[in-house]
Amino acid sequence: MIRQYELIDKILKYNPRADIALLNRAYVFSMKAHGNQKRASGQPYLVHPLEVASILADLKMDEATIATGLLHDTLEDTLATPEELKNLFGAEVAELTDGVTKLSRIEFNSKAAEQAENFRKLLMAMSKDLRVLLVKLADRLHNMRTLHHVEKPEKRVRKAQETMEIFAPLADRIGLHAVKTELEDLSFREINPEAYKRLEDRLIEVREQDNLVDRVVEILEEELKNANIEAKVFGREKTIYSIYRKMHKKNLAFDQLTDIVAYRVLVADKAACYETLGMIHNVFKAIPGRFKDYISAPKPNGYQSLHTSVIGPFGNRMEIQIRTEDMHNIAENGVAAHWLYKAVDPKLKREKMDPYGWVRHLVESLQETEDPEEFLENAKVALFTESVFVFTPKGDLFALPAGATPLDFAYHIHSDIGNRCQGAKINGKIVPLKTPLENGDQIEVITGKTPKPSPGWREFVVTAKARSAINKYLRAQEEEEQTELGRDMLEKAAKRDGITFNESALHGVLGKLPNVQHVHDVYKAIAQGRLFVRQIFDQIAPHTAAAAAYSQPMPADAAANLGFTKPTEENAIGIEGLTHGMSLHLARCCHPVPGEDIVGIIHTGRGVTIHNKACHNLEALSDQPDRFIPVRWNLPKKVSEKQQAYPVRLKVSMHNKPGALAGFTTAVFNAGGNIIDLHSEGKYSDVFIIRCDVEVHDVQHLQSLMAVIAAVKTVNHVERVVN
Ligand code: MN
Repeated sequence: MIRQYELIDKILKYNPRADIALLNRAYVFSMKAHGNQKRASGQPYLVHPLEVASILADLKMDEATIATGLLHDTLEDTLATPEELKNLFGAEVAELTDGVTKLSRIEFNSKAAEQAENFRKLLMAMSKDLRVLLVKLADRLHNMRTLHHVEKPEKRVRKAQETMEIFAPLADRIGLHAVKTELEDLSFREINPEAYKRLEDRLIEVREQDNLVDRVVEILEEELKNANIEAKVFGREKTIYSIYRKMHKKNLAFDQLTDIVAYRVLVADKAACYETLGMIHNVFKAIPGRFKDYISAPKPNGYQSLHTSVIGPFGNRMEIQIRTEDMHNIAENGVAAHWLYKAVDPKLKREKMDPYGWVRHLVESLQETEDPEEFLENAKVALFTESVFVFTPKGDLFALPAGATPLDFAYHIHSDIGNRCQGAKINGKIVPLKTPLENGDQIEVITGKTPKPSPGWREFVVTAKARSAINKYLRAQEEEEQTELGRDMLEKAAKRDGITFNESALHGVLGKLPNVQHVHDVYKAIAQGRLFVRQIFDQIAPHTAAAAAYSQPMPADAAANLGFTKPTEENAIGIEGLTHGMSLHLARCCHPVPGEDIVGIIHTGRGVTIHNKACHNLEALSDQPDRFIPVRWNLPKKVSEKQQAYPVRLKVSMHNKPGALAGFTTAVFNAGGNIIDLHSEGKYSDVFIIRCDVEVHDVQHLQSLMAVIAAVKTVNHVERVVN
């Protein structure tokens, strides 16, 4: 266990002007506050805050953060109050300690809704001051190191899972690579002890067998000395968890792994890195395709190194990483930690370099998400993926999660830009909207005047902001469409039945209709099939409702288009004699539509009614052949001309499930059909039957409409009703 004076020594090494008095006061306060509390290990409790402070010192944190490490459990576990801390250590330390305490109260293994809320709290705490998270991670690291002292196995596994799922990825996200790796390894040992033990045994076996690592390190040191390069050489075994993960990911057996050990050469400067590389390639045989220069092209998180793989002195393949001390520091502890202690003035720290801008952006973008599960998923995606850095045409830099597309970029700039996005250029070339962005890309968004988000966009965007904005727009649009469809259905039905109807009449009966509050709720309910036109008319006009007429007057221009054939049959009647003075009607029993075989029936004094040739009512007239006249449709050839709408009646049986009717009406709507009335014909436990009057243009339209309806998942059967 570390002592206070050793901690101070460690801090003074990287920060000679550190406020030692503050750290000593914090130490004494924590010691007194915790009194003779004990850890599960039986050690004095004070050991824990001291170790946490020591981890933070290894990360080269500032005094306020380390003092917070010493004090971090005093608010939760002792009688100390925030006011006391503020008086003794100042507002900064008091706020940080308070933040860590709040963070520690968050439970992560709860229900989705609570978990989302807790995640939100975590992000909020982090976005205020990321040092809170750094203390929390150091706290968790020490608790994981001493987890074996905890007696209850369930508690150990729960902590390990939480660490694996939440804290290791968070450490990774802020660049604390060494912390992440250790957290994962400690968690894995608890979650999968058998696998851990097996791999550990194999590693020990390999290590003892030939003492390879030390011999390779010696040889490398020798060669570097010969080349006059000052260097430190390390051979570090990868952690058991990272070996396990690699075996799983690449489906390899233990013996097939080539890089159980990573060799690292640390040198004075960049030039020495390349010099070392040259020497290594000179002495050992390089494996082609394995050389990577992350010095000229750093990874997005700031990582720099030269990587190469060679055939080692004993015929073994080995990976060597070459870097400077500075680069090494960043590789282990991230740019974030690096910046935190480098910047002296905290104000400068916040304004000039903002390594945590992404946390704030994340919180902002997640605020639009209401569904807890969606929130969680978005938060995890946004947190646990690496960034890609791209530019606007003006040269402004934006960080987006890896895999982001130009559409994510457009939404990142503004939801309105995203909604109106029609295309994009990457580095001056037009590309599909789903093209993944790469580091350094310059993106130009092409926008139209009106928003046109497509449901397909949700398939490829990766940012929470884009997905939420698209969902929001589509939901609003769907509501609008349904409202319009419902209003249309109601108006048409009213007109047909001769009912005077307007919105104020509808207002008057709102209270008598189920589950509606506003007029637009009524429209929506009609479109979704939750309300029937008849129910509304029964309220608005109980007396006039629906005396079903035998026939309806034919639309004027449809009548004009309905020509008679030349007399081809013996008793055919001439055209002229009929077209003058005789009105035409479409039969309401069989609803003929253009393209179908039809026949005209003469009604003395009422004109001619056009029936579908398949109409059953015709049978009753078979003894009066003189009333039949042969007719055929004579419609404009060009489909593009204004099309007349003809009603037909369908009988549809569907699963009695929520949303089944909405699925049906949406399908009709999408196929260009216009629903004018819906009647329930019976509702059973599993089946629901409706009769639906829908307007179509002609028989082809009707056929395609019926095919679309039949394809709806919740529809069992659809048929045309003639009579
Ligand atoms: Mn603690």
